[in-house]
Amino acid sequence: MHIGIDLGGTKTESIIIDQNGKEIERLRKETPKNYNGTLDTVCELVFYLEKKYQKNCSVGVGSPGALSNETNCIKGGNSTWLNDRPLKKDIELRLNRKIFLQNDANCFALSEAFDGAGSNHEIVFGVIIGTGVGGGLVINKKVINGFNNITGEWGHNQMSVGSNDKWKRHDCYCGKKGCIETFLSGPGFSKHYFDLYNVNLDAKIIQENANNGDEKSLEFVFQYLDYLARGLSQIINIIDPGAIVLGGGVSNMKQIYGNINSKLKKYVFSDTVNTEILKNKFGDSSGVRGAASLGRQSI
Ligand SMILES: [Zn+2]
Repeated sequence: MHIGIDLGGTKTESIIIDQNGKEIERLRKETPKNYNGTLDTVCELVFYLEKKYQKNCSVGVGSPGALSNETNCIKGGNSTWLNDRPLKKDIELRLNRKIFLQNDANCFALSEAFDGAGSNHEIVFGVIIGTGVGGGLVINKKVINGFNNITGEWGHNQMSVGSNDKWKRHDCYCGKKGCIETFLSGPGFSKHYFDLYNVNLDAKIIQENANNGDEKSLEFVFQYLDYLARGLSQIINIIDPGAIVLGGGVSNMKQIYGNINSKLKKYVFSDTVNTEILKNKFGDSSGVRGAASLGRQSI
């Protein structure tokens, strides 16, 4: 059996699944917002589940940020107490065994590729469009990390320029301007709505207004879809996955799924675009399921 632990900013979730992905039990705890507390919580959850089910399990951890190849420490995570710490090594020392650790976008992609929305495809790209924009690549049900450990980080590529763009290019926290993330994230969506209409609304509210037939919001959603198609076309031109599975708050925008492929044709360098753009199957559970599936992928 396989244990997965998802280190969220407010909740730490753990799951135990069998080799077929069947969920046996799931537990949630408050995330202690300090490093040692995080190590304690991970170990408590593993020991509890292994004792209860009398099994030695593989352990996979989904973490914010990524492991630096240079230092083996977490970098760039929004749970700042983990940054610059050798999280994987410290958990391994405490559990006295090797574990798997991947960032949350890679866990999401693995979960959806293993037995989620993309399970029929050999090459699956998982996209998170929420507070930020990230992604992960899974080929033959294995996470691809890449030479610099940044495979899938398409959110900080530049958004391509259109012929009559209405949306401004904003500064990104990464130091560049006009990153895909500044257009496609939930906060980016809101910010561009403010630019155009001088009204400050949460991305979720704008989507609800569009769903309720508000023409201005609907037109704005379709402008967004054009930018989304430009962003996704960069993934397709380079990787050409069979499926791109969307997660994160903005993936709930229902207009995406019936309309995105016709928009992709404008931007992908191909006469046909049959890539499946899919909503995730496991929603918020994909992170923790993917963490557990890190042990499945190695068998
Ligand atoms: Zn950026």
